[in-house]
Amino acid sequence: MKTKDLIAKGVSLPVMEAFYTIQGEGRFTGHPAYFIRLGGCDVGCVWCDVKESWEAGKWPVLSIDEIVEEVEKYPGKLVVITGGEPLMYDLGPLTALLKKKGFSTNIETSGAHPFSGNFDWVCFSPKKFKAPHPSIYDHADELKVVIFHASDFDFAENHALKVKASCELRLQPEWSKAEKFTPLIINYSKSHPNWKISLQTHKFMDIP
Ligand code: SF4
Repeated sequence: MKTKDLIAKGVSLPVMEAFYTIQGEGRFTGHPAYFIRLGGCDVGCVWCDVKESWEAGKWPVLSIDEIVEEVEKYPGKLVVITGGEPLMYDLGPLTALLKKKGFSTNIETSGAHPFSGNFDWVCFSPKKFKAPHPSIYDHADELKVVIFHASDFDFAENHALKVKASCELRLQPEWSKAEKFTPLIINYSKSHPNWKISLQTHKFMDIP
């Protein structure tokens, strides 16, 4: 079968990098986790800190067996699938294999493509640059909005209206604007206590 057909079936995927580290953001901050960063993204955030991920064709295509073989070399049981934009691919086969092997599966996504896969935790981080696909809203366990501009607070509230009631709400300062927006986020959270704060703690710890 041709590589593009294997990718379309989700049994092979372009992997930009994969590494064992500590989850730095959101609900699972501080948890040891194996990150699988898939190549390819068509969202185009101006402040993206992984722009090299955008072009999927640059990255090696691995079978899901090869990907999971690497995961099994580490003691952690939490796997985070990120990108790029991981929902550009059918994540059903990869997450099924991870679950079969006893791993917990988390995803970090902008929701810009139809939802797929079997996840224990879905971190939905919508971006202004490409509207989310409607399928994400029922799956999101966490809504994490990056604050880069003052208008992002309204953007966050608009998305909070669409997610399920149990979805956890977080605001996270964009790294380069953290000095300006962290005090505003603190005040916002204090006056809108349904919102918690997420920080990119891995950047403070200087880990990937
Ligand atoms: S969705 Fe993520 S990978 Fe894609 S451009 Fe935005 S920040 Fe970068």
